[in-house]
Amino acid sequence: MIPGARLVMLGRQGAGKGTQCTRLSRHFVVPHISTGDMLRAAVKEGTAFGRKAKEYMDAGELLPDDIIIGVVEERLLKDDTRNRGYILDGFPRTESQAESLAAITADLPLDLVIDLAVPTDVVLERLAARRVCVDCGANYAVHAPPKHGWTCDHCGGEVIQRADDTEDAIKRRLDIYEAETAPLIEWYEERDLLMVVDGDGDPDEVTARLIRTIDTARR
Ligand code: AMP
Repeated sequence: MIPGARLVMLGRQGAGKGTQCTRLSRHFVVPHISTGDMLRAAVKEGTAFGRKAKEYMDAGELLPDDIIIGVVEERLLKDDTRNRGYILDGFPRTESQAESLAAITADLPLDLVIDLAVPTDVVLERLAARRVCVDCGANYAVHAPPKHGWTCDHCGGEVIQRADDTEDAIKRRLDIYEAETAPLIEWYEERDLLMVVDGDGDPDEVTARLIRTIDTARR
């Protein structure tokens, strides 16, 4: 992928988007913009915005479109994304967000949208077992913990279960995904931007598949 490429990663919660986007951003040296990570940082800072965001997140609900669109627009105006491109993770999640993104990026349009496809039973298992670093967001699992207790291998942060990885919140998030986000797959297909990549299997194999897909799309 040449510098300046602009990519969106779609996929169910628990499809491994976060891990794969982090790897791709290192491989291609482009900023990884995760709306979930940005919101979790605001929650940790304890700002008024963060406290409000936490209510939505813990319930598994989406933040209102106008709020999250404002957050993303501000981020996409920064020099690094304008010069180097980006990998957007967790946005857009509704048709209205996709329309706003198209308007925000009218002068520098998206190059590619990837749907990281993983079956529902697999994501349910992954979400229940998922553990994350509170500081850098690195992903672990009950069966694949950090090397030393629940301390992150990368930054030494505490590794915990996400507050929104409860059974009720997981179910709500997957319902919202089917109703609001899944229709974006067709939306981007109609605009000739979509490629589907099989996200099931060994994480290293999935990364290799993604890199091949992006490299092919860029040619
Ligand atoms: P994620 O880490 O991407 O699963 O996001 C965690 C939570 O942050 C979601 O369940 C929502 O509450 C909120 N969130 C993240 N991205 C968005 C978005 N594009 N629109 C609305 N809410 C979002």
